[in-house]
This record gives sequence, C-alpha cells and structure tokens, in this order.
Amino acid sequence: MNLRCQELLRSQCFVDGTWTDGSGADRIAVYNPATGALVGTVPAFSQKETQKAIDAASRAWPAWKRLSVDERSRILRCWYELIVEHHLDLAVLMTLEQGKPLAEAQGEVLHGASYVEWFAEEAKRIYGDTMPMAQKGKRIVVLKEPVGVCAAITPWNFPSQMVTRKAAPALAAGCPVVLKPAARTPFSALALAFLAQKAGFPPGVFNVITGPAQEIGQEMTANPLIRKLSFTGSTAVGKRLMRDCAGTVKKVSLELGGHAPFVVFDDADVDAAVRGAMSSKYRNSGQTCVCANRFIVQEGIYAEFAEKLVAAVQKLQVGSGFDQCVQQGPLIDQAALDKVEAQVADAVTLGAEIACGGMRVGKAGYFYAPTVLLGATKDMRIAREETFGPVAPIFSFKEDRDAVSLANSTPYGLAAYFYSQNINRIWRVAEALEYGMVGINTGRMSSEAAPFGGIKESGIGREGSKYGLEEYLELKYLCLGGLDAPL
Ligand code: NAP
Repeated sequence: MNLRCQELLRSQCFVDGTWTDGSGADRIAVYNPATGALVGTVPAFSQKETQKAIDAASRAWPAWKRLSVDERSRILRCWYELIVEHHLDLAVLMTLEQGKPLAEAQGEVLHGASYVEWFAEEAKRIYGDTMPMAQKGKRIVVLKEPVGVCAAITPWNFPSQMVTRKAAPALAAGCPVVLKPAARTPFSALALAFLAQKAGFPPGVFNVITGPAQEIGQEMTANPLIRKLSFTGSTAVGKRLMRDCAGTVKKVSLELGGHAPFVVFDDADVDAAVRGAMSSKYRNSGQTCVCANRFIVQEGIYAEFAEKLVAAVQKLQVGSGFDQCVQQGPLIDQAALDKVEAQVADAVTLGAEIACGGMRVGKAGYFYAPTVLLGATKDMRIAREETFGPVAPIFSFKEDRDAVSLANSTPYGLAAYFYSQNINRIWRVAEALEYGMVGINTGRMSSEAAPFGGIKESGIGREGSKYGLEEYLELKYLCLGGLDAPL
C-alpha cells in the first residue's frame, strides 16, 4: 500500500493506549469493493474484550473530566492538525476500503477534521446558568457535566467523518469513548486512533475496537458503565440498540436512515436545481443518508429538469476511485448492488422509463451506472424505500400541497431539499416539511457549525454545532440555600 506514513495502516485494536489483537482467535477480512481484493484483516473482539475496553475508558474518565478545558482543547487541536497533515494518506485508506473517489475521500477527511477543530474550540464554551428563584434566600445554579463513558457505533459510508463527528464532541465534553467502526471500513477509524495517540490523549480516553457487531453491541448497550450510546446506521439496528439501552436507561443519539425528497417548483432556477441534484444524489454513489431519494418536480418544468439532469448524469465517469477522471466509485457490496437492481426492476415493471443507466457496470467490483428514472409513481418500491445507490426517480406534481404531501409521506424525517425563488413559498414549504434538515436552493448542507440530525424514524439527537456538544453533557442543578442573611 502506497502511504507516505505506513504506520497509519493499523491491523490491531486500540485499547487503553495500547495496540492489541485481543485473544487473537478470529479476524475480520476487509475487501476493496472496486476489485474484491483483500485490503487486510482486523481483530474480532469478543464480549469480554469489549468489556475490558469499557473498563479502561471508565478508569480514564475521572482524570479526563478533571483536566482543564484548555488542556482538552489543546489535545483535540493537535489531533485536528495531525489529521490535516495526513489527510492524503487517510484518503487513500478510505478509497481502498470504501471505494469513493480519492478527491471525495480527501474532502471527507478534511470535513471530518473540521469537527475536531470545532469541538476543540467549543470545549471552552460549556457554559452553565444562574437563575433567580421565587423562594427567598435561595439561588439556582446549573452546571453542565460530562455524561460519562460513551459508546459509538459508526457506518461504512463515511468511515472518517462519522468517527470524528461522534468522538470529538464527546472528548471535548470530558467523556472517554469506545468506538466500533463498520466491519467493512475499520482502517480509517484505526488510523484516526493512531493519530489520536500521537496527539496525546491519555490511555483509555479514546478506544477503537473491531469485531462482530451484535456481540460488541450487546456489551455496549448492557454495560452500566456506558452512560451514552451514539449510533449511525440503519433504522432497524438503531431501534434495536435503543431498546437494548433501555435496560440501563442510557442517553442515546441515533442518526438513522433517510428518504430525502428533492422538490423542484416551477419558479426554480432549473440549472441550479440540476447542480444541487447532482451533488445531493450522486455523491458517494448515492450512499449517503441525506442523498436525495425522490425527485418531485412540478409539471411545467418536468421535461426541462429531466433533460438537463440526464445530460449531467451521462457525463459521470464510473470506475476505480483511484482513477482521477472518475466521479462514481463502486457500491459497498453485493447486497447494495442487489437492492439497487431490484428497485429499478420493480420501477420498470410498474411503468418507469429508464432515461439513462439502469444497469451494472463491469463484472468485477460492485459498480452500478448512474441512473435516472422517468415517470416514477407512489406504488413503486423506490417511492417507499431508501435506495442507497445512484438512482434518481422523478415524480411529478401539480399543486404545492401535493408535493409537500408526497415529500412527507414516509416514516423517515432526516433531510429534504427544495428549489424555488418565491420567498412566500420558501417559508410555507420549509415549515410544512417534516424533516430535521431542509436544504433550500442547495443540495449540500453538512457543516460542523450546523445541527445535523433527523426526526421521526430518522433518529434522535444532533451532531455538529453547539447542539452536538449538549448530547454529551448532563445538567446538574445546584440549589444554594441560606443566602438571605443581610449584608
Ligand atoms: P447498519 O447495518 O445499521 O450498520 C451500521 C453500524 O452498526 C455498523 O458499524 C454495523 O457493524 C453496526 N451494527 C450492525 N448490526 C448491529 C447490531 N446488532 N448491534 C450493534 N451494532 C450493529 O447500517 P449500514 O448498512 O452500515 O449503513 C447504512 C444505513 O445507515 C443506511 O440506512 C443509512 O441511511 C444509515 N446512515 C445514516 C446516517 C445518518 O447520519 N443519519 C449516516 C450514514 C448512514 P458491522 O459493520 O460490523 O455490521
């Protein structure tokens, strides 16, 4: 593997400041989704080994929370600088294990780093409150304290950013972290752990473990030392983890699935809407939870929008993420490819027309051609299910209320997008959409300064921004009495 810093390729877990294979009994193989070649293997930690990592984090907690905010902030800042320094290598690792184009991987690493920088700064701004009290001689003081040892479980679609978006606010708040990355993309997380070690986090404060999801998840949810679980992944697994956390009443943050509508009104700037659609739909080959999943376009501009979108999609190059001309890498695995193929076949059976794409590309790897489907209707699978692939089905509508009703007709509530130039319509529609995030005249809205998260079955809690830090803090109310003596 061609890395400037070979030490970034770690094949062991990081626990209590030490690199370890655990019992070494089993290992998990990681394959390149573009070629099927083996990238490497990582340990398969057992429940007992997970417990040891949690114990280490718990031992580290008292000193970590007592450290001055300046000191915590300095270590986080150092981690940020190391990630930026090594971002090219981190991107290579990511493209190898996840497949996304190298330029996109670099963008993700740097965006992920921005969360570390942001929370290094926010660590210094954990303000409490003082409040007047009706009862004489008493004062109300509210402190914000770290919630305790945090468990984090991250998905494969953003192998770097999902790690920093959870770990940085937790660490800034004074909480140690035990993190399990997705089995398909552990190397990005382990490389971040290596840089965290170099940045000077004390042993046990940041731990990264790999292994069978269910076994590790069970320990993380049942262990009373874990006070908070933060999970990003599918709604089905999120629901299960939430149920399991109830046994010890843990705080939870869940970033789950999405089914984003992308509404284009007849007064929209169509070229801008097409640019937004390309960015929202085809980034990461359609494998983001905020990807536009349903294009809902007003009748008067349907033909123009569809024609321009198809022209733009046909320019996308599909292939290895290491090829500089490529904008579309592979899907993550065979199951992802099967799901996309099944949704497209179902849509065609029910009357959709394939305007471009609609087929697998090549025999090796899991490539699927960027696709546009015309004439999408509510009865199709693609109207109900998240696709997680590069397929844009276009629905049409007459009245604004039809668009909003179609957009809201899902149990998901993560991200929605719409394009309009009419300020009255913008407010009306923005308020009517039942989503945690709404992009208006933009197809991209992720930022370290903004609260990212969903409502309904898309999750609980927010990541990024000042709200993201609150997720790792508890309020403690002090009632000070006996203050009524005269001066
Ligand atoms: P997933 O199967 O839910 O996996 C996500 C993570 O959970 C992985 O680390 C996985 O481990 C782990 N996991 C799976 N089963 C588990 C269990 N029983 N107990 C504990 N952990 C378990 O989802 P995915 O297929 O990787 O990701 C795609 C989904 O994530 C999509 O639905 C997408 O919308 C959602 N997503 C949401 C966001 C967001 O911010 N809202 C961001 C990205 C993705 P293994 O890899 O070891 O199986």
